[in-house]
Amino acid sequence: MSIVEFKNVTKRFGDNTVLDGISLQIDTGEVVVVVGPSGSGKSTLLRCINALETIQGGDIIVNGLSVRSKPAQVRLLRREAGMVFQQFNLFPQLTALENVMFGPLHTRGTSRAQAREQARALLARVGLAERENHYPGQLSGGQQQRVAIARALAIKPKLMLFDEPTSALDPELRHEVLKVMQDVAETGMTMVVVTHEMEFARKVGSRLLFMDGGRIAADGNPGQLLSQPPSQRLKDFLRHVA
Ligand code: ADP
Ligand code: MG
Repeated sequence: MSIVEFKNVTKRFGDNTVLDGISLQIDTGEVVVVVGPSGSGKSTLLRCINALETIQGGDIIVNGLSVRSKPAQVRLLRREAGMVFQQFNLFPQLTALENVMFGPLHTRGTSRAQAREQARALLARVGLAERENHYPGQLSGGQQQRVAIARALAIKPKLMLFDEPTSALDPELRHEVLKVMQDVAETGMTMVVVTHEMEFARKVGSRLLFMDGGRIAADGNPGQLLSQPPSQRLKDFLRHVA
């Protein structure tokens, strides 16, 4: 069952074509790792999935809802996907616990008591039970990103989108975030992950997409694509990130 379907999608910024006729089906439970040079359209691809960008051609269907449908339906569609950004984007004036409670309280109408209970469970799951009353500024980058993952999970999404979640972190903090992402993958969550962490791609990814110039230039099994890149472009790219 495909949970995300791109049908010949074109996205332009002015006369810059950033997604150039993308067709793609993502099935429930897949962990799709997206790689590619800077500017190839990876972030835009992710942002189109939860309708943060409008598209100029084609259609994207997320769990049966079109990104081109009416605003009320687009709001429903946005709730299907939890998003984690490179820059954490936590609310600085809220504690870790309040950050995780925010979505359920304000978009799901969950009661305060229930939101708190769920948020505590999620913080425990990302290894931060002891930090619930800390503000983002009192947490390391790796801890902040784990709070951001808990916050995204709190809306009970059907899929999780990650845009270079470890790129802003010092190398020694990346592992704790990748570990949490692996744990989430092991629950069967559908994930689309833009990252340059090739070990994660190989170990956790079920599928690898190589984007180049707004197109999907390679799509396949991570182990296979990484050990035997089918094109010189991918070979050159991999040499770059390795
Ligand atoms: P990647 O994530 O692979 O580095 P992006 O999806 O961020 O690539 O960007 C793809 C292209 O779209 C780039 O040429 C970038 O300059 C352009 N772009 C992205 N966002 C915007 C925007 N909001 N306005 C104009 N151009 C944009
Ligand atoms: Mg990007």
